[in-house]
Amino acid sequence: MNTHCNFYIDGQWVEPAGAHTVHAAVSPGDESVVGQVMMGGAEDANRAVAAARRAFDSYSETTLAYRTEMLQKLQAVFERRYDEMAHAISTEMGAPWDWAYEQQAECGPGHIKATLAAAKDFQWETRSGDNADLVCEPIGVCLLITPWNWPLNQIAAKLAPALLAGCTVVLKPSEYAPLSGKLVAEFVHEAGYPPGVFNMLFGDGPTIGPVLSSHPDVDFISFTGSTAAGISVAKNAADSVKRVVQELGGKSPNIVFADSDLDKAIRWSVSKCMSNTGQSCNAPTRLLVERSVYAQAVELAAKYGAEVPVIRASDKGKGVGPLASKRQWDTVQRYIQIALDEGARMVCGGLGRPAGMDKGFYARPTIFADVHNQMRIAREEVFGPVLVMIPFDTEAEAIAIGNDTPYGLAAYIQCADVPRAKRVARRLRAGMVSINGQWQDYCSPFGGYKQSGNGREWGRFGLQDYLEFKVINCAN
Ligand code: NAD
Repeated sequence: MNTHCNFYIDGQWVEPAGAHTVHAAVSPGDESVVGQVMMGGAEDANRAVAAARRAFDSYSETTLAYRTEMLQKLQAVFERRYDEMAHAISTEMGAPWDWAYEQQAECGPGHIKATLAAAKDFQWETRSGDNADLVCEPIGVCLLITPWNWPLNQIAAKLAPALLAGCTVVLKPSEYAPLSGKLVAEFVHEAGYPPGVFNMLFGDGPTIGPVLSSHPDVDFISFTGSTAAGISVAKNAADSVKRVVQELGGKSPNIVFADSDLDKAIRWSVSKCMSNTGQSCNAPTRLLVERSVYAQAVELAAKYGAEVPVIRASDKGKGVGPLASKRQWDTVQRYIQIALDEGARMVCGGLGRPAGMDKGFYARPTIFADVHNQMRIAREEVFGPVLVMIPFDTEAEAIAIGNDTPYGLAAYIQCADVPRAKRVARRLRAGMVSINGQWQDYCSPFGGYKQSGNGREWGRFGLQDYLEFKVINCAN
């Protein structure tokens, strides 16, 4: 496969307007080149925004019934071409087939369904007090910037509510995961959206990002990615006073109390941290364990960590695949070395590739014990299969360590005493808390506190981002 990733602007596939560079899309499973990604410049950015701006006047005036029908058509395309999407994701970011098929590709139709359900119950128009109508209107031209780790999830969580709300879109997917973004554009085209409603281009973030983020004709930005890039986007957007929603990094605590079913809790904790090869913003990467069971927990973690199957991206079956890029592999190696230099005790994994995997960006699931929360390995986002274990003595200390992070995306609690777990959950400064492995569905808000961002996506919470609320004061 060698996919030519050009741009979709104003209902057509187009080449970059002027001088441009080309990024080679490399499949992390075997390091083969699978695509050529055109990297656009200012002229392309302006072209995409202009198309979205032109389309906004008419698309924003369409009825909710029409937009619902269009989104249902898009969902049907997602379902019809589901296998193609799973294959694209597996190829571009290395998710092994089962993971790509069951988890990653499912996010497309999943978010569309949740958005359609949320729209049904949403109060698009209501009375406000005694003397006013409150009406929701599409916010305008939306810039969606997305990362490579859950490439379709981030696109679908933004695109579905934007289209349903009546907004027009410029999508800039990650150049490290271009195949799913290109397929999304094909799906939108096939669903029959009018030209200009959806536009997509690729480009290097620091180069094209400022042009797009500062653009006076962009009304709203939904950004998902690293905290550093999110700050840059917000700064570039500030002069035009557009609204910016940021979904950023994490270093989520996972608190294991002594009364939990320890074997089950540790097995779940290791597997959750390593899933998607540790490349999830909400991964439970800091395992805080009550001191009375800490030594036993370390033994269990070492056992389950060593058993995590690392499988080839092309393989079927359960297991973790390679990291998504050489860049990410280097980052993970650097952090393992940092942890060793800081004196953390490595109980499984380590530097380098797993035995027999000489080609591809495969890393060894690695766990460090006897970590304290001031070490860099406990504070900085690694974004790879690396877990740290920290002991605590009291509930108050667990909460304090849990909250002692610049991030606040997710938190996890393992505890037999559910009222206690709920009490702790309320004290944690994180947007999403999971007790005893309970996962959240697409209707609940996804987002974080502090430097993990300022937005809430998914379901009705995501829909609100794409709306302006207008009050019309009139006595009757
Ligand atoms: P990244 O910040 O490098 O890139 C994300 C996107 O932003 C890419 O499309 C990139 O081209 C673009 N970009 C980079 N610099 C930019 C700039 N100055 N202006 C505009 N756009 C710019 O992140 P990544 O490496 O692709 O993804 C991993 C990060 O994403 C991790 O930190 C992870 O925690 C975070 N993430 C957060 C969530 C969430 O919902 N909170 C979800 C997934 C990933």
